[in-house]
Amino acid sequence: MTDPETLSVTIVDGYVDEPAHFGVPPYISTYPRYAAGALVDAGVPREQITYHTIDRLRDEPDYWRDVDEADLLLYLGGMTVPGKYVGGTPAEPDEVRKLAWTATGTSLMGGPVKFGVGDENAGATETERQDLDFDFVAKGDVEAAVHDLVESGLEGFNNRMRDIEEVSRWAREGAFVVEQHPNHPDHLIAELETSRGCAYRCSFCTEPLYGNPEFRPPPTVVGEVDALSDYGVKHFRLGRQADILAYGGDGEAPNPDALRQLYGGIREVAPDLETLHLDNMNPITIVEWPEQSREGIRIIAEHNTPGDTAAFGLESADPVVQEENNLNVTAEECFEAVKIVNQEAGWRPGEDPGDGPSVGRDTPNRLPKLLPGINLLHGLKGEREETYERNREFLQRVYDEGYMLRRINIRQVMAFDGTDMSDTGAEIANDHKQLFKRYKKRVREEIDNPMLERVAPLGTVLPDVHLEYHQDGKTFGRQLGTYPLLVGIPGERELGRTIDVAVVDHGYRSVTAVPHPLDLNAASMDELTAIPGIGDSTAGDIVVDRPYETLSDADFGTEVDLSRLATVRPLERAD
Ligand code: SF4
Repeated sequence: MTDPETLSVTIVDGYVDEPAHFGVPPYISTYPRYAAGALVDAGVPREQITYHTIDRLRDEPDYWRDVDEADLLLYLGGMTVPGKYVGGTPAEPDEVRKLAWTATGTSLMGGPVKFGVGDENAGATETERQDLDFDFVAKGDVEAAVHDLVESGLEGFNNRMRDIEEVSRWAREGAFVVEQHPNHPDHLIAELETSRGCAYRCSFCTEPLYGNPEFRPPPTVVGEVDALSDYGVKHFRLGRQADILAYGGDGEAPNPDALRQLYGGIREVAPDLETLHLDNMNPITIVEWPEQSREGIRIIAEHNTPGDTAAFGLESADPVVQEENNLNVTAEECFEAVKIVNQEAGWRPGEDPGDGPSVGRDTPNRLPKLLPGINLLHGLKGEREETYERNREFLQRVYDEGYMLRRINIRQVMAFDGTDMSDTGAEIANDHKQLFKRYKKRVREEIDNPMLERVAPLGTVLPDVHLEYHQDGKTFGRQLGTYPLLVGIPGERELGRTIDVAVVDHGYRSVTAVPHPLDLNAASMDELTAIPGIGDSTAGDIVVDRPYETLSDADFGTEVDLSRLATVRPLERAD
């Protein structure tokens, strides 16, 4: 019998991406935090719990020693939606096997990896469950498994789900583990869970495998935020739920009072938080309960930080596909929900709440508080050529009628065992690959680009962009938050820092921006020529005529109003 007091545990985070739960850096999912709390609850001293991300093990191979020497290795990972990531690279199956082989102690694997493992994390793939050579695989909740395994003296556990009381305790007790994340403290965003499960049963989705929704009461989520903020976390996303609007209700209808307690409570315990975003809102809730939903959306927009996105799972605007896959919202209903979110939350800081959508050249220079995003999924049962046209027409209509979408996410299906899609598998997605490619390109060019111009017009300020990598003589970075815009800045700047920028140009899903405010006495030629209407010769004139005392001294008749972007700082003089 192993005494928990003497046990050393290494947690390795291979990252997770589920329909309603994200944990690739800069995000930290709930899994390592809950698991650490469960370990403490079972009697393991905090200082004997080590946490590494898979990227840290890749970058600093010495840390494999912690995998080797621990009495218990806990691997957390699994991708149940396809994706590509900038902030980290999820563990590959071979790396996960190597973890099991390296561990001399007991090894346990858990997280969404229990739903299956594909050869690669991409759409149009099929998956199967594998144990990847671990001693134990948690087929229920991994935090319950690790808790019970330790209590049993590493003998074993019954697969079970944890209850609300346990998770509330473990969430608080495990908050300390964030300090061991390589991105801590500044470049880290904690994914928060408000509920699991879903009242609906879409054919492709793993969320109903958790059953009907069960909500964590506001004080437990608020208590967790309080603990995380004590350990230095300033960025939060309420992302672990199928529908934030249904929070605290009967499973389907909204309960604005619960939302008020949740958001108000978070703001109270973490008054200095820098990001409060969400993920996942079900459009059907908005159309079925419009008045309560409007109230709920207003509450969210008054408490969140700008640039927030409510991702809507429309998945398909084609009624045939909707019918065959048990999708719960029609294109018409989704359009209505897009309109309501735009009206209630599509305002910008400085404007009156509820005054959305805020569009046009003279809007305040910040992102809107909360906008819808649209998820579209291809390769579903019943998909036909017309499906692509219907989806594109839906998006075009949103644009033509003057509304905003913050993000359009187009993916191909991954088929998991236990979902209705598992019979169809990836066959339709594979047959339609060419069609999919052409359509995606068209949406990017014809809708994403003008939409982005509407959401983030020239001069929109994006504070605290984290500089992440260099490419083609530019520096790329993103803000912390839900679906942040990729920002390209002229020149190679020092990485790992944050700067404020202003948008000057738009791609499909990314923007070009210059430091804000841009000092005309110091700006580089690349920065100046990134501004529309400033060519090489005007930029050359601006540089030659330095220094300027005031902005009006630098009037070169540019078509862009430079006061939205630039400033002049006095030159430093040597005494
Ligand atoms: S509404 Fe459908 S896609 Fe969304 S979480 Fe529920 S089952 Fe999954």
